[in-house]
Amino acid sequence: MQKLAVFTSGGDSPGMNAAIRAVVRTCVYHGLDVMGIVRGYEGMIDGDFIEMKSHSVSNIIQRGGTILKSARSERFYNEKFRNQAFGNLKKHNLDGAVVIGGDGSFRGALTLFNETGFPMIGIPGTIDNDLFGTDFTLGYDTAINTAVEAIDKIRDTADSHDRLFFIEVMGRDAGFIALRSGIAGGAEAILVPEDETSIDRLIKTLEHGWRRNKTSSIVVVAEAGQTGRTFEIEKEVNQRFSHYETRVVILGHMQRGGTPTTMDRVLASTLGVASVEALIRGEKNVMAGLVDKQVTFTPFEKATKHHHTVSAELMRIAEILAV
Ligand code: ADP
Repeated sequence: MQKLAVFTSGGDSPGMNAAIRAVVRTCVYHGLDVMGIVRGYEGMIDGDFIEMKSHSVSNIIQRGGTILKSARSERFYNEKFRNQAFGNLKKHNLDGAVVIGGDGSFRGALTLFNETGFPMIGIPGTIDNDLFGTDFTLGYDTAINTAVEAIDKIRDTADSHDRLFFIEVMGRDAGFIALRSGIAGGAEAILVPEDETSIDRLIKTLEHGWRRNKTSSIVVVAEAGQTGRTFEIEKEVNQRFSHYETRVVILGHMQRGGTPTTMDRVLASTLGVASVEALIRGEKNVMAGLVDKQVTFTPFEKATKHHHTVSAELMRIAEILAV
């Protein structure tokens, strides 16, 4: 191994910059050259590569977003463009790469490897926390803290006006952000896609609260891949229980930005070092993650096929505390 690349791909998440920094600095530490690929697989196809040095990543550990930009690439699904991308990797004499992204980005890396033998190691960069093989993905901790801050603020106005607020948080098909931010924000109810009976239970919770003269409530809803689905839920709840004046707040992309938390910065630094050292050892097609505080490498096939499931115990805790 003489020269590696690093790039960010798919949905961005806070902490990606800290991971880029860690990859670049670990390469420098081990005497390897390193290049950044701009805009993920799009840049790989277009040959948008930049030399990176230790100072290229100064002053970015605390910045949200990604200095290398991120993108989704329709063209990369096509073998012709993957060959073009591989031509660029060869032109720059690259021996391997670290891909920071979600499961789609890892599927892309695996497809390229199967066709060309180009080795890559993944760092799980997504706020959704839905990847198998790591307890936490990069950006998740920052996203839940952003959501909790918003819930706290909304609670002030909910309380002043005796209103029921539905707060929609991100999460593609899992309720991780909703569950943790809901517990931390003291939500009266949390609706996660994993639990289909949750609307019936929500009505019961609201009725119970109403009988106890509760005048305001916060319900956290996971968007579950359909931004705005909370408006439907609000409608259904209003048809079945009309005592509260209701409002919907969609937190949306604010959850993807902002200064990464300490936890995300340390996770990014740990996985950045681990992924470069794993490439040097000759590993490939694995995602670096942290399981029970230990760095663990999970094959891309496994990390992308299996999904992390929300903790039944956390769901039970949320229910007990909403009484
Ligand atoms: P994420 O990495 O956040 O899950 P996407 O699912 O959009 O985001 O994947 C990022 C990019 O990875 C896609 O836009 C595409 O270029 C590439 N990709 C995903 N799946 C495949 C695949 N099966 N074959 C080739 N490229 C893929």
